[in-house]
Amino acid sequence: MHADYLIVGAGQAGRRAAESLRSLAPTAQVCLVGDEAELPYDRPILSKEALFNVEDEARAFIQEKSFYESQQIELRLGSRVQKVDRVARQVELASGERITYEKLLLATGSRARPYPGQVGEGVKLLYLRTLEQARQLRSRLVAGTRLVILGGGFIGLEVAASARKLGCEVTVLEPASSLLQRVMPKVIGDYLLELHRQAGVDVRLDTLPNRITRGVNGLLIESNRGTHEADEILVGIGALPNVELANEIGLLVENGIVVDEQCRTSDPHIFAAGDVTSHFNPLLGRHVRVESWQVAEHQPQVAAANMVGNEESYAQTPWLWSDQYQCNLQTLGFFSGTGPVLLRGKVEEGAFSVIELDTEGRLLAVATVNQGRDMAAFKRMAASGKSLDAAALADSATNLRSLL
Ligand code: FAD
Repeated sequence: MHADYLIVGAGQAGRRAAESLRSLAPTAQVCLVGDEAELPYDRPILSKEALFNVEDEARAFIQEKSFYESQQIELRLGSRVQKVDRVARQVELASGERITYEKLLLATGSRARPYPGQVGEGVKLLYLRTLEQARQLRSRLVAGTRLVILGGGFIGLEVAASARKLGCEVTVLEPASSLLQRVMPKVIGDYLLELHRQAGVDVRLDTLPNRITRGVNGLLIESNRGTHEADEILVGIGALPNVELANEIGLLVENGIVVDEQCRTSDPHIFAAGDVTSHFNPLLGRHVRVESWQVAEHQPQVAAANMVGNEESYAQTPWLWSDQYQCNLQTLGFFSGTGPVLLRGKVEEGAFSVIELDTEGRLLAVATVNQGRDMAAFKRMAASGKSLDAAALADSATNLRSLL
């Protein structure tokens, strides 16, 4: 078989690229190959509503099967690409089938980082990356279940909130001394810690698990702070980019497939988009790998435009959100982790923003807690690169639009 545009990975980025390619090249042969058996779906709902019931799970699917048929997007699901031949411009599927291409897009995403400690015989750890894993987790989250979550990152905390709503007894083991320590200012970590503790989650900081075994009354997690008992253990310790294919064919890979702002790899016929990329962000002046809905939604549209011969750039300030209980957290840019931060609004009222400016007074990063309506103004501030009045910014009486 031949495809003018062949996409490997039928996740959000792959689906988005296929849609764009179809509208940019109405008569081209577009083929989307994915190793999961499901139609392409968006993952954010998997740690949220999809854990409650099967009806909510359906919202993960953005397009129905009939869409791909009507758009003549050839879907090969449950098919893993196991080899790429750059010279012949051809891929080989696990079934042995070969597909030649004119332009190839790698949208292979990432996978859950496996738990690196000792795990005894008969212990089954849970992960949350795929719909299949969300279904498995949902079936285990019944009231009274003792769930221990390894890792207090975004996914771990979202599952903790969902599991509490379902009546589970939840413990979170986090090796760092505050939640989201690598990515968020301490005020946000402290706020979330309080939020989860008030909801009845037993959050243990500075706690590093080292051995998991099966005991008489369930699973036993031995840590530097003692032993914890569980019926189920969810591992939420980050994700790894699926770069194996790119490595095998000698593309440049450094914590993700290295691409420029036009999604081009080191091979002129191969592009990459989504979670798997370490992409050059012209607004930040460096390569970044960001696991977010934003990148998976917008970067493939740029990749598609350039695959058909245009010259477009992906240049957006990194943005993502997390929902836990009634709390909506959004972050824009990257906090330095060293500079002072401004507080706008009141933490005790549960509606505030934390802002970091660079040495020139430009917006470096912001995190909003239940203040998502301000995000549009912050995005414009970040894009403008304008120096801002710190005192006015920190004053919640100041209309943000007046600072633009
Ligand atoms: P993926 O979604 O990983 O898709 C890649 C696909 O390619 C997968 O199906 C994979 O199996 C397949 N594949 C890999 N190798 C091959 C191969 N060789 N052959 C064929 N197929 C292959 N972001 C936010 O901004 N806000 C949120 O609230 C949020 N919540 C999230 C909750 C969860 C549970 C998860 C897992 C992620 C969440 N994210 C969130 C992040 C965001 O959804 C991801 O970053 C996004 O899914 C990335 O899309 P992608 O298409 O690049 O990669």
